[in-house]
Amino acid sequence: MIITELKPIQDIIDSLKGYAKIFLIGCGECATTCKTGGEPEILKMKQDLETAGKKVVGFCIPSAPCVAAKLKSELAKNMPSLRQAEAVLVLACGLGVQSFKDNDRLSLAVFPACNTLFGAVMDAKGDFYEKCSLCGECVLDITGGICPITLCAKGLLNGPCGGMNKGKCEVDKDRDCAWVLIYKELEKNKKLAALKTIRGPKDFKKSARPHKLILNK
Ligand code: SF4
Ligand code: SF4
Repeated sequence: MIITELKPIQDIIDSLKGYAKIFLIGCGECATTCKTGGEPEILKMKQDLETAGKKVVGFCIPSAPCVAAKLKSELAKNMPSLRQAEAVLVLACGLGVQSFKDNDRLSLAVFPACNTLFGAVMDAKGDFYEKCSLCGECVLDITGGICPITLCAKGLLNGPCGGMNKGKCEVDKDRDCAWVLIYKELEKNKKLAALKTIRGPKDFKKSARPHKLILNK
């Protein structure tokens, strides 16, 4: 899941300077779950923009605006409203914003309403935790399913570092050292011998951006 936060409303209004008629696009997946791009947030944004003197000419909430097929069918249904719009404000992650740009036949100005923060898992209480940095060369098989790239403050492949203190991280003493967690996990599973192998540097070419994966030739 991609985690987003809404930008301060005044920043959004400032970014829309010069545009009076706005169309809003939300997201039925991650941004709805994060409470940044579901129907309540879209309606609140409409109210705030109208209070600021803008006209909201319409809105839609595609189930996943980052998926072209899902976005395009919603855009097609809303074409009369989109034709009135001078700009589009997207209440979704940066993928949703750029997906709109890629699929917009009207070449409208597009603006983000959200800051895109990280990829996360959601726990049973509904809180979000970053667990993977999308590094392109997963090492969870040798670290007991705990990601050192994301959870170790230094992203170390061999740890812990000399700064670990009583199981806590030297960068943030309130946080467990990822490598202590990895050690405990491997110990529990009788796989501590794996730690005797020094892991070489990762192939960071695999995390070079932008990535693409072409499945349909
Ligand atoms: S090693 Fe960590 S950052 Fe890399 S793919 Fe696996 S979970 Fe993600
Ligand atoms: S104390 Fe642990 S988590 Fe913190 S930087 Fe060192 S190895 Fe990484």
